[in-house]
Amino acid sequence: MTDRFRKARSVVGLLLLALFLALPFVSIGGESALRFDVPTLRLHAFGAVVGMQDFFLLLIGLFAIVFAAIFLTILFGRLWCGWACPQTVLLDIASLGGRRRKQGRTAKILRPILIVALSAAVSGASVCYFVSPFDLPALLGGGSRTAGLVIGIWGILTLLIALELGFIGRKFCAKICPYAKLQGILFDDRTLVVAYDSTRAGECMKCAACATACPVDIDIRDGAQVECIHCAECVDACTERMARRGKASLVRYSRGFVQPAPKGPRVSLILTGLLSVAFLAFFLFLFLTKAPFDASFRPAEGARAALTGSGAVMLQCRLSARNLSTADLDLELEASSALGSVEASRTRFALPKGSTPLKMAVTLTIRGVSDPSLLIPLTVTIRSLSPGYSITTSFAAMPRPRK
Ligand code: SF4
Ligand code: SF4
Repeated sequence: MTDRFRKARSVVGLLLLALFLALPFVSIGGESALRFDVPTLRLHAFGAVVGMQDFFLLLIGLFAIVFAAIFLTILFGRLWCGWACPQTVLLDIASLGGRRRKQGRTAKILRPILIVALSAAVSGASVCYFVSPFDLPALLGGGSRTAGLVIGIWGILTLLIALELGFIGRKFCAKICPYAKLQGILFDDRTLVVAYDSTRAGECMKCAACATACPVDIDIRDGAQVECIHCAECVDACTERMARRGKASLVRYSRGFVQPAPKGPRVSLILTGLLSVAFLAFFLFLFLTKAPFDASFRPAEGARAALTGSGAVMLQCRLSARNLSTADLDLELEASSALGSVEASRTRFALPKGSTPLKMAVTLTIRGVSDPSLLIPLTVTIRSLSPGYSITTSFAAMPRPRK
């Protein structure tokens, strides 16, 4: 089949681009399927919400991603670069059929238009990964300074992406991309690579179709090269040429550059695989047991317990609570003291999802305290019933002598 890998890469690229453009606009529980919301500093990921207070969780998730990326690089080499990197996907679409297709006048006119349109769409979607696309029409319509900032960032991003695609292109992969430079040192002797079969060099027609097709301008017959993004354009080109002689391609995907591939355990592959699974398991454990809300309960600024004269004291307190989940929560407050019974002026609080943090004054009445020199130990528990979770705060209140 001609252009087997090019067709497969086009399908993969278009699907990935569609996914990237769609994710912020897909609503799960009223929020984007994926967005780091800058105004609230919260990550929305497929219905889950992770706030900055869960920074440790994000760090563990990041470790899992880094080790998984290293593991996949050892296994599949530069498959990311050749098949999934946004740079490759956008350049492939903008190339309108690749280097082996003769570019007509229409294609030459269409290419810059396509680059600008793609850049505008990608930068627009990128902005929506940080600002809610559901609030964007109202925000832009309001004409505020924030609206101007959003439009400005969108415009600058569009310009940068268009310039990069139009003028730097594949040079970025070979000369600038740090991930590309790192990948080479991660390979082992069985990493998936695109290689020329030098043992069959005598069969080469020297047509140079492989080199002409290469988007990074290298000749795979010269051996492994750091610029190669393993896109398999040369494989398709050689397959087509060699098929005319009824022979298999001289360039192909293979496990390592040396054949037959060595045997024995792949230590770095095993270690990074284990580490990525361990970090992923730890991340899932932390994520599934993470608090649905955050709360604090303290005496109000400068407040001291006031003796009432009937063996009780009153203390003005302040409850702060924030819903960190995607469900409406009902909170229950329970206060106790070793000195006597405690009654709170309010014990039930509704905390709807996505609401602004709750701040509320609560008065505690502690009975059985008449000695103004005693510190009153207090324990306050705030719990949600579904999902079950509680936060307990302990502090001591200083009574104020009665005048
Ligand atoms: S040598 Fe082949 S696989 Fe490597 S970048 Fe060029 S065309 Fe792609
Ligand atoms: S396309 Fe194949 S036959 Fe032609 S030069 Fe390249 S390796 Fe040789």
